[in-house]
Amino acid sequence: MASIYSAIKCPYCGRSAIEDFNYTSDEKYISCIRCGYNYTKILKEGSNDLNEFEEDSREGHGVFSLMKKDGKREMRLFNHRLSNDALETYKRMFLGNSVDQEKSYLIMYEDEIFSIVLGSPSENFYLSFEEYKEKMFKKYGNNNDFEFIVPIEE
Ligand SMILES: [Zn+2]
Repeated sequence: MASIYSAIKCPYCGRSAIEDFNYTSDEKYISCIRCGYNYTKILKEGSNDLNEFEEDSREGHGVFSLMKKDGKREMRLFNHRLSNDALETYKRMFLGNSVDQEKSYLIMYEDEIFSIVLGSPSENFYLSFEEYKEKMFKKYGNNNDFEFIVPIEE
């Protein structure tokens, strides 16, 4: 796999997003588990020309992270504003018997403002990308050969 995984500054919310960059094909995926933003840049289907890409980006409207008591996790990134009905459904899911409420959360992101609707996200959630990067380099050390790679942590 010719991919580099790194945390990057989310172009949508400014906190830490996850980038998967394939340096041989130049394809790229970004997903932000803070605000729900998604970006893909993939080779056009049926194209032999390496320079023909299809780009798609979707705005972030929040995330829902559901941790089950058996350790399995489901994560949903919202690309549209949540309707009240959807919110009620997620609330019910959150309160389910098989759910570890302490490790689950629902966050909405509207007009550049995060609202924590259910549960509580990780400490890293609150950090700007710059703060996050500093924390990661302090924790894991800054390997000079790969200083452009920032470790990924929830
Ligand atoms: Zn984001």
